[in-house]
Amino acid sequence: DLSLPQFVLQHVDDYPDSIAIVDAASDKQFTHAQVRSLCFNVAVGLIKHFNIQKGDVVCLLLPNMPEYPILVFGILTAGGVFTGANTSSHPQELEKQIKHSEAKLVITDTHSFAKVKHLVNQVPIAIISSDNPPEGTANARVLFDTDATFVTLPQVSQEDLCALPFSSGTTGISKGVMITHRNLIANLCSTLFDLDKVNPGENVTLGLMPFFHIYGFTGICCSTLRTKGKVVVLAKFELRLFLDALIKHEVRFAPIVPPIILALVKSPVVDEYDLSKLKLLGVMSAAAPLAPDLQEGFEEKFPGVVIQEAYGLTEHSCITLSHCAPDHPRGIAKKGSVGFILPNLEVKFVDTQTGKSMPRNSLGELCVRSQCVTKGYYKNPEATNSTIDERGWLHTGDVGYIDDDGDIFIVERIKELIKYKGFQVPPAELEAILISNPEINDAAVVPMPDEEAGEIPAACVVLAPGSLLTKEDVINFVASKVASYKKVRLVDFVDTIPKTAAGKILRRNVKQELLKRLVR
Ligand code: ATP
Repeated sequence: DLSLPQFVLQHVDDYPDSIAIVDAASDKQFTHAQVRSLCFNVAVGLIKHFNIQKGDVVCLLLPNMPEYPILVFGILTAGGVFTGANTSSHPQELEKQIKHSEAKLVITDTHSFAKVKHLVNQVPIAIISSDNPPEGTANARVLFDTDATFVTLPQVSQEDLCALPFSSGTTGISKGVMITHRNLIANLCSTLFDLDKVNPGENVTLGLMPFFHIYGFTGICCSTLRTKGKVVVLAKFELRLFLDALIKHEVRFAPIVPPIILALVKSPVVDEYDLSKLKLLGVMSAAAPLAPDLQEGFEEKFPGVVIQEAYGLTEHSCITLSHCAPDHPRGIAKKGSVGFILPNLEVKFVDTQTGKSMPRNSLGELCVRSQCVTKGYYKNPEATNSTIDERGWLHTGDVGYIDDDGDIFIVERIKELIKYKGFQVPPAELEAILISNPEINDAAVVPMPDEEAGEIPAACVVLAPGSLLTKEDVINFVASKVASYKKVRLVDFVDTIPKTAAGKILRRNVKQELLKRLVR
């Protein structure tokens, strides 16, 4: 009955001095043995200095840094639960997360402290980035210096909660998702295979996706450490820093999101680089739909780099479907598909009205059942009951289908479908068409209320510099490629498309802004 840190760090004695994690900017690094021993220091430090008890929640409000996974493993080793907060959240959102999760400690840096300063008298706050922490806060560095010998740590069971990530709230109010040690271990067991064939240090993975999100934590930190590899930490995305980090640290695998692939394909900055210096073998695209044209654009620009799509959700502890399923005869799934069913998972597509299972090639809501499925939403049984049914099926809210070969296609999120005169229009499909135009750098499609049609698809478009495309050109371009009910009926030119930290288009914000501009 191993805990998550025990499972991830189980074989460290075979490769103690191999580098586990390095900061791309400062080169600060920790070996696998250091990660394991520091995780005990942190665990004991949390108990000794901050009185953390079994089941207590600790909030990390930090950017990606090499210490991040060590802090998380320390919290879990102390029997605690970690809730990662998004450093770009608004102070009110952070207050909600901290209060709702009943966090007993917040660990942050001097930069993000400004956002939780008003809570100093309500929750203990420890600062990691300074020896002189602001008044009313403690020094989090003591955690790394605590002597961990001769202390008995609480017994942790796989059924215990280990993480309480808050969903990004792209489709509604943000909710705390209860994830157990077993959930995450099961997810790692389904995604990692052939471990004997991997040598220590061989898997060099970019740690750019936020570690507070399940993608960054499970899919990058835990996966890489478990595969004896090295995480190259990058705190934020900037194209030059990204390419520099890939080259300098000889990154082999980069789990990223479609907006980054878009930048790699469309930005002239990439042409300044000698790409033959890259050691990159593969890129994973997850969290949002990857347009097939964009995938092709990437393959042309980065020949030899395999691009694999994966699909996952917080409620399923991370990856759910992937192009990289072990022992699959075809090895790689079809373009446009999100991949195959991973081992130890059951998947079905159901009619959203009747709940009946749909045959192959027919659209339905994707449902998943496995040991990765969350225990439910924290203090929200109503939301839990409407998402996980009595037979344990997680209803993902995504519509798609499985074809005759077992490749799975996700068409749209149910809540994001636009209803034009009763027809369902998937915005992601229109966005994929829009960005396939070389004169369009980015695009988001949202529903606009319309008296006659109910809703019409409206596109906010970022033009490439120097483009002379008119709104009518954009409408005609899409119209030439889709059925007439799917036509974009309104176009607006914008400077940027707002996206979440995990790379999803913030459609609610796009829509609100567009409505405001239309009223003006
Ligand atoms: P909220 O539920 O509050 O809106 P969120 O959806 O952003 O938050 P996540 O767990 O980050 O929470 O996202 C999971 C969703 O991301 C999936 O349900 C799916 O809609 C989308 N997604 C993930 N991977 C892919 C993919 N490869 N292709 C298309 N969509 C994807």
